[in-house]
Amino acid sequence: MKGIPAGSGSVAFGSALLIKEKQLSIDKARIQDVDQEIGKLRLALEQAASTIQQEKQGLEAEGDAAAESCELLEAHEMMLLDEEAHQKMEAYICQNQAAASLAADRVFEEYKEMFDGMEDEYLKARAADCVDVKNRILEALQSGSEAEPATDMKAQNGPVVLVAKELFPSVLLSMDRSSICGLLTEKGSKTSHIAILARSMGIPAIISGENRLNQIQQGDEIVLDGETGEYAACPSKEEKAHYEKRAKQQQEDAQSLQKMIGKESVTQSGRKVRLLANIGSPDDIPAAKKNDAEGIGLFRSEFLFMDRPQMPDEEEQYEAYKAAANAFVGKEVIIRTLDAGGDKNIPYFNIPKEDNPFLGYRAIRLCLGHKAMFKIQLRALLRANAAGNIKIMLPLICKVQEIQEAKQLLQEAAEELKVQELLPEGAEKIPVGIMIETPAAVMISDQLAKEADFFSIGTNDLIQYTLAADRTNERVADLYDLRHPAIRRMIQMTIENGHKSKIPVGLCGEAGSDDQMLRFLLEEHIDEISMSPGSILKSRAAVRSFA
Ligand code: PEP
Ligand code: MG
Repeated sequence: MKGIPAGSGSVAFGSALLIKEKQLSIDKARIQDVDQEIGKLRLALEQAASTIQQEKQGLEAEGDAAAESCELLEAHEMMLLDEEAHQKMEAYICQNQAAASLAADRVFEEYKEMFDGMEDEYLKARAADCVDVKNRILEALQSGSEAEPATDMKAQNGPVVLVAKELFPSVLLSMDRSSICGLLTEKGSKTSHIAILARSMGIPAIISGENRLNQIQQGDEIVLDGETGEYAACPSKEEKAHYEKRAKQQQEDAQSLQKMIGKESVTQSGRKVRLLANIGSPDDIPAAKKNDAEGIGLFRSEFLFMDRPQMPDEEEQYEAYKAAANAFVGKEVIIRTLDAGGDKNIPYFNIPKEDNPFLGYRAIRLCLGHKAMFKIQLRALLRANAAGNIKIMLPLICKVQEIQEAKQLLQEAAEELKVQELLPEGAEKIPVGIMIETPAAVMISDQLAKEADFFSIGTNDLIQYTLAADRTNERVADLYDLRHPAIRRMIQMTIENGHKSKIPVGLCGEAGSDDQMLRFLLEEHIDEISMSPGSILKSRAAVRSFA
């Protein structure tokens, strides 16, 4: 059987642990005492928050490896403590003489529907978090009910594969995770938090599709291949042998790549390149470190702005940028300013629906149209630059004036901070570079190089704009071709113009970890390549094998 691989790429063997959907009751009868019901709700909210606290404490002992899980619990805690949600639930109780459970159900279902209706896959996946938080409240309201899964893990021997229609992070986080070796669910997506958690825990997670798992019985032997998405229940001898061989090969490959840690990224003839990590939040720093990244080549700051009802304030952004800068002192940390829009819709910016969002009001265009918001980000970046290793990167640049306008705002932000005595010494010397991800930017890269301190080629967008092939449209996937000669020429031209102006040129699109592209980039004397942390050691091995 084949499903969608959403977790880590490893092969896992375990016995099925069926997770039954919890029966949480919602009381629909009218209540008599509104104040008493509000009291019950408040108590349940406190109880649910304290359960999260306990889970967080349990995770703290696991150190960096559990950082992502802790972040997720914090996000749930934030939703649970959200003042607006409290007011809505209490108002619902008062206006409808409703039970607290009904109020919680209605308010969090409303939030869920809001996320469900979003086009962006990442935000859509946040609907699951709303259900999870709602269930926590319902559990707390149901006296004596604990946030335990409906199945007793102790009855199982050895590693287990959790099998469920849908899994929520709270279930996973409330279990003894040391014996969980995989997840098999009917519903989900690659960007759901459960998938993010599975990746960070290094376990495979496969989404089978509706009604595919009904035949699996408690304790059945299960094998999952996280790379291909294949899975089997009660595998035959031959199937088992096949997966065992794959698991052995994976272990050997991963083991031999460990040798690359601490080695230089250099070809046999001595050509050097820096291999850096792409990250989306401070949660990804441990993975970047573990894979020996030579810095951060792309911090997609927009991920800090998603999955929430309003934008992160200056302080929160400052903390996130500082965490990345401090983790890589002495190495560069390139933080890209908000790249919202396109397929990354952020609801509170209220961007009207556009026919061609990738050609619309996005990235630098949106930031220059929301100057006050943009300045908050620039202030946070300047304040976080105490170690002097942060570089600012502007997305979707098409003309010189866009860089000039952004730099003007940056200067204003620095002056304001200086007056407030919040500017670290020398922080205003922060380099400002740009993404080269539009054909226009390539064609005027000679002019842009005079205004920018560095270039980073964004092939994900550059390919779609050059070949007129939407990066999200499966029907034109064949046309979206990184090997097209037009793309190579664009890259050549950008590197040449950057180097003529003596600025470094990097690449941070997905194409960077493709072996053929890697060879081409080295031949063209690229200075650095940034990629997902898990690809760094493999790419370093490839670089070192080149003549
Ligand atoms: C790119 O376009 O290549 C890029 C790195 O940015 P994103 O994928 O976030 O658009
Ligand atoms: Mg891009």
